[in-house]
Amino acid sequence: LMSELKAGVLGLGAMGGPMASNLAAAGLLVAVWNRTGEKAAAFAREHDVDVAGSPQELAARCNVVLTCVSADPDLEEVIGLMVPGLEPGDVVVDASTVNPLTAQLLARRLAEDGVAFVDAPVSGGVEGAIRGTLSVMAGGESADIERIRPVLEAISGMVTHMGPVGSGQATKAVNQVIVAGIAEGVCEALALSEKLNLPSVRLLSVLGAGAAGSWFLEHRGASMLENRFDTGFKPALLLKDLKIV
Ligand code: NDP
Repeated sequence: LMSELKAGVLGLGAMGGPMASNLAAAGLLVAVWNRTGEKAAAFAREHDVDVAGSPQELAARCNVVLTCVSADPDLEEVIGLMVPGLEPGDVVVDASTVNPLTAQLLARRLAEDGVAFVDAPVSGGVEGAIRGTLSVMAGGESADIERIRPVLEAISGMVTHMGPVGSGQATKAVNQVIVAGIAEGVCEALALSEKLNLPSVRLLSVLGAGAAGSWFLEHRGASMLENRFDTGFKPALLLKDLKIV
């Protein structure tokens, strides 16, 4: 058992930034690293943590590293950079959305050095990341998930162990079929409502109270109708997810 969890976060984007804030608030965060250094420096000024000089240094200073980067090649790259700093017994836990096969490949590579890997993609949007209420879909060994449970609980409202490595990402692929379908339906419906000149505030409340209600309508409906698209999930990431599906 790890006597003391020393967590690091690699990737302080829309999701990784607030996740790192919640780890700092839980007293688990030791250091961060971000490719664009200014983001890491700003984070470190706001929270009482260090900026590691490199992914390797981050890995060397922590026994649990949470990664949250854009896509499969990015994850492969940053894990490759961390490898020289990782030690047997360390755990890499990845909250990005990638292909289950990528998760399995990276788990095998890390296992050669005695390093554990847990795939832990999340759902719940930027709001969920900020509030620490994400739903975590975990794949990996039970013992590894138990060791890092405080880290997962600091970012989430629910941690569900789905099976061996890759099962978290497989679950996330299923999740994204639903997310994409709902997003498309809501966007088409709200475009229609504009053509029909319906009053938007009343429209959203009447729809939300019935069977058309959904997370996406509730959290993105009003801003979309005001032509604001500044929060949340990039379409390029959703396209990446559908290619995984
Ligand atoms: P962002 O674009 O906001 O952040 C991406 C992060 O990854 C940045 O910190 C970026 O660094 C880093 N990064 C990307 N490529 C590399 C690389 N090659 N080397 C090092 N760092 C890299 O994305 P999100 O935070 O929105 O998404 C991150 C992941 O989480 C994605 O896989 C996404 O699908 C998933 N996700 C997103 C949700 C959302 O609502 N936004 C919800 C659930 C999951 P830099 O600052 O230098 O660009």
